[in-house]
Amino acid sequence: MSKTLQLDVIANEAASCTSCELHKSRNKSVFHRGSLDAKIAFVGEAPGADENEQGVPFIGRAGKLLDAMIVAMGFQRDDIYVCNICKCRPPNNRKPLPTEMVACKPFLVRQLDIVAPKVIIALGATAVESLLGPGEGITKRRGKWGVYNNIKVMPTFHPSYLLRNPSEKETVRQDLKEVLQYLKNE
Ligand code: URA
Repeated sequence: MSKTLQLDVIANEAASCTSCELHKSRNKSVFHRGSLDAKIAFVGEAPGADENEQGVPFIGRAGKLLDAMIVAMGFQRDDIYVCNICKCRPPNNRKPLPTEMVACKPFLVRQLDIVAPKVIIALGATAVESLLGPGEGITKRRGKWGVYNNIKVMPTFHPSYLLRNPSEKETVRQDLKEVLQYLKNE
């Protein structure tokens, strides 16, 4: 079965999933966007209001910044794979609960297994914790490589954090540069 079909099957399962409370306020589940053959996957936290309406990850303000980051890395927006830890929107944009993250994890595991990127860029503490396990805060963990299922993981700040703290954009630029350096030597 092609990657597209395999991922469509999983996306459909996510769309009708009732494993946690988030399904009750779901408009659309949000599975992924971008190339299924990408060398880089960005993993965020969970959909916001815009994503819940349209069913596509990172299309709001944070998404526009993520797109700019992708272009600054020398790619086109859709060259890169993008998904979230949780596929449904937490009410009022709260952080997903640990139980919600655990309930949704099998979708993430399966989709990353199929796409098989060379590097995952984990955006913010929630993504880092889900992929690499609990640990220090994102300020300490960012910029330091981790490994998830044999895939290298670069933790960095979430674009929503950068919208509130634009002076940290340079820090993220360094983390993304590190990723590009790694891929060049692969
Ligand atoms: N924030 C995320 O973590 N994911 C989205 O899809 C949108 C905003």
